[in-house]
Amino acid sequence: MADQCLFCRIVRREIPAKIVLETDECLAFRDINPQAPVHVVVIPKDHVTSLNEAKDAATVGRLGLVAAEIARIEGIAESGYRTVINTNADGGQTVFHLHLHLLGGRHMGWPPG
Ligand code: 5GP
Ligand code: ZN
Repeated sequence: MADQCLFCRIVRREIPAKIVLETDECLAFRDINPQAPVHVVVIPKDHVTSLNEAKDAATVGRLGLVAAEIARIEGIAESGYRTVINTNADGGQTVFHLHLHLLGGRHMGWPPG
């Protein structure tokens, strides 16, 4: 399953992506269809299908810390940003490898659609 997973393929560099940050455990790259001036996807390098399958607090927690670090690098930490994890159909998940969206550079409406 991870063989064909799009984000696992990005981790293996089989599919190109604009990588913004890499750590031992995480990879962050620009979304191919950005919804804001800054739109970065942060993933664990090890395949986890969704938040429903997450077992390890550090795996989930690191996504937030990496997003905050990128927000600082991208200069949106003070103006603000949104982090989102979409899960399954009602959450709008389309790629089934756990990921956290970092969106910023414009005002975000609430509630989300
Ligand atoms: P989801 O809808 O699952 O929460 O988010 C998946 C995200 O992955 C979408 O925002 C989509 O634009 C992005 N995406 C899909 N395919 C690719 C790709 O090949 N490269 C990159 N960089 N992003 C992708
Ligand atoms: Zn995967």
